[in-house]
Amino acid sequence: MLDLLLPQRCVVCGRGGRQLCSACREELPRIEPPLCERCGAPTAWPVERCRECAGRRLAFAGARAAVGYDAAARRLVHAWKERGLRRLAAEVAELVAELLPPPEVEALTFVPADRGRRLDRGHNPAERLALELAELWELPCAPLLERTRGGRQRGSSAAERRTVRGAFRPTASAPRSVAVIDDVYTTGATAAAAATALRAAGARRVEAVAFARALRRG
Ligand SMILES: [Zn+2]
Ligand SMILES: [Zn+2]
Repeated sequence: MLDLLLPQRCVVCGRGGRQLCSACREELPRIEPPLCERCGAPTAWPVERCRECAGRRLAFAGARAAVGYDAAARRLVHAWKERGLRRLAAEVAELVAELLPPPEVEALTFVPADRGRRLDRGHNPAERLALELAELWELPCAPLLERTRGGRQRGSSAAERRTVRGAFRPTASAPRSVAVIDDVYTTGATAAAAATALRAAGARRVEAVAFARALRRG
């Protein structure tokens, strides 16, 4: 509702017009190959595992994100999550579909919001993104996961690492191959926990897809 009544401004730079102006859209840092085949981190040359994911048990086959999680991407995600700008989810989904090939899976699902947050905002950004992507990629989207306990903490790597294995449980049996959608990939702990639950529900291969990805320097 607010979405329709408020004058439109770019949530990144504040200029009047679209919620994401074309200049800011252009400036978002695209994640481009070479990448780590597993976790999708940009690397100097193509590798199967990188410093970020080597030695970690990751239940997903591969993770991909469209852009780096820089200050602009952060503002975009914040506006989309905290202010519930639904139209922005469609813009973000278009950008993801433009930059990433559709995952070779039978269906999409999403990282569930914890209960408190869902009530606060009336929607889950990861779900919204998954629904928009399902249309663009012509794939079915099904809710397959729920949280085993509240307190999904985002905003720092340390907080995400506390999102331990067992944070999710399946609510339905999963297709053989499925992509789990989230807004931001930080350490991979959330995607890995979601993939673990999906595999327990029968998925053989799980891909992780996010709009933005935290990038380590150096
Ligand atoms: Zn702008
Ligand atoms: Zn990696």
